[in-house]
Amino acid sequence: MLDADFFRRWMMATAASVDREAERLTALDSPIGDADHGSNLQRGFAAVRAALEKEAPGTPGAVLVLAGRQLISKVGGAAGPLYGTLLRRTGKALGDAAEVSEEQLAEALRAGVSGVMTLGGAVPGDKTMVDALVPAVDALGDGFAAARAAAEEGAVATTPLLARKGRASYLGERSIGHQDPGATSSALLIAALVEAAAA
Ligand code: ADP
Ligand code: MG
Ligand code: MG
Repeated sequence: MLDADFFRRWMMATAASVDREAERLTALDSPIGDADHGSNLQRGFAAVRAALEKEAPGTPGAVLVLAGRQLISKVGGAAGPLYGTLLRRTGKALGDAAEVSEEQLAEALRAGVSGVMTLGGAVPGDKTMVDALVPAVDALGDGFAAARAAAEEGAVATTPLLARKGRASYLGERSIGHQDPGATSSALLIAALVEAAAA
């Protein structure tokens, strides 16, 4: 079973990974965006880290709702509200249980991803974070490592796609040939599950 501390470790591992990869995320956002994805997420997850150090919520759901709220309030740009919605929706779907199973997490994340798709209007193949998140959720039944591999593959597979949502879509055909920054950061978020489980 996964307790509040597991979810805290997941968010902390994501924050650390975003710190390590911020330059790469911003570099990916340079040819098909406005070169701020790494700094946007770094600011957001620094706020998540600070909030979790201060408050220490007692349930998995409360950890994710608090993290999501930080991202929504601290990150301008598309990714803040989208990631904020992902975590808040997932957290709400977990309810107030003290511990949840991997199956419950998979189901809750599915609700979270569906919240992202409703808010942003993107479907798989539109070259967004959805292209990493949907395969990750589909693979979660086979374990965190399988979800990590699926998210990474999904992110890499955005390269040949034409962007249909977000800033990159303004470029039309010129968006082809670049990996989507948001799909790349979503793969980091999912990879952090493996780290949280290993700790
Ligand atoms: P901004 O584009 O406002 O500068 P970021 O650079 O932080 O925001 O985030 C860009 C990422 O957000 C994109 O790479 C993409 O994955 C994701 N994104 C943008 N618009 C949408 C959308 N409508 N639905 C899902 N994801 C989106
Ligand atoms: Mg940007
Ligand atoms: Mg921006």
